[in-house]
Amino acid sequence: MLTFDRLYSEGHEEVVFFSDPSCNLKAIVAIHDTTLGPALGGTRMWPYASIDDAVEDVLRLSKGMTYKAAVSGLNLGGGKAVIIGDPKEDKSEALFRSYGRYLESLNGRYITAEDVNIGVEDIEHVFTETSNVVGVAKIHGGSGNPSPYTARGVFKGIEASCNKVYGDRSVKGKVVALQGAGSVGRNLGSYLEKAGAKVLFTDINETNIELFKEKVPTSEFVGVDDIYDVNCDIYAPCALGATVNDKTIDRLKCKIVAGAANNQLAESRHGDILKEKGILYAPDYLINAGGLMNVSIEFEGWSDEKAIRMVDSIYDTTMKIFKLSDEENVAVHKATDMLAEKRIESIRNLKGGYLGNLRHRFPGRKVR
Ligand code: NAD
Repeated sequence: MLTFDRLYSEGHEEVVFFSDPSCNLKAIVAIHDTTLGPALGGTRMWPYASIDDAVEDVLRLSKGMTYKAAVSGLNLGGGKAVIIGDPKEDKSEALFRSYGRYLESLNGRYITAEDVNIGVEDIEHVFTETSNVVGVAKIHGGSGNPSPYTARGVFKGIEASCNKVYGDRSVKGKVVALQGAGSVGRNLGSYLEKAGAKVLFTDINETNIELFKEKVPTSEFVGVDDIYDVNCDIYAPCALGATVNDKTIDRLKCKIVAGAANNQLAESRHGDILKEKGILYAPDYLINAGGLMNVSIEFEGWSDEKAIRMVDSIYDTTMKIFKLSDEENVAVHKATDMLAEKRIESIRNLKGGYLGNLRHRFPGRKVR
């Protein structure tokens, strides 16, 4: 439930409800923390059963975005939005334009993008009304599909993990159990194959299974539930969250868990169990941040070269987090949170002197 006690204790700055009965718009924007910059995070459309469910989701997701941006070195805060509705029934130009007008009223404190059930065509309507949106089509100066950049970042995270576990960043000869042959999974599979790894993969969608085989010809399909039992060096979850849980954790035969899926640990304690079992976990919200990095540079002018330079920094940041995890003797997911919180605190505590920037409040008057 939404209470001020909860907002205070979890550090949420602002929660805004937008309603427009003319187009059936019911949207909630949550701005978690803007210490580092404007809050950036996608808009998700979902037929939530209740407002409480929608609030729960948007608060959790917006906080996650604060940590993701902070640990990735981005000058962005964390925010997220949800539109309550059935994506098959309730989408319309009017709904997205109305939503865009409301977003404009936030004056740039929140920047949106695509998320679950929101596509580029929906974002185009939002973009008609506000410029506080990224993930727009390349033709409008946007950055296009983020998945290849997400996959590249995950690959860098896997290389860092190999360096930590095997003393060599190369994945040559390693066996990877990849779950989820979707947009990110396919691109990751291709990176792994080209670098000499053997990819075992699974999926539930026939079309994506075929597409994966075409893109990664040396790969082998395994059963949906068998993916947890195969002998491998790396388990790469690229489908769903919470697949490292009480039912799967003792089945994993890998030395590394590193993939694209959000919230791979069902609960924080599963990260501690992985550490006890000697399995290295690469922090999901860092190594899957390539897509966020890619859209984040749209405002300054996107280029493939800039995006790749940023995404490749995931290797060094992941190594830094492994070092911190060793130094502090804490599991990797906790070290990742520590690094993110330390960065936010350091900027929050800045005590720069007065710079005479009152001029914008008194246009035309000499203030000093
Ligand atoms: P996608 O929808 O293109 O692919 C997901 C794939 O997982 C689909 O092929 C689906 O059939 C498969 N799948 C679903 N349930 C499964 C199951 N039980 N077992 C095996 N496969 C199953 O999504 P995506 O864009 O490739 O994203 C993959 C994951 O990475 C998601 O969790 C997403 O939230 C996360 N992520 C994606 C991006 C991005 O840039 N696309 C960025 C950050 C995080």
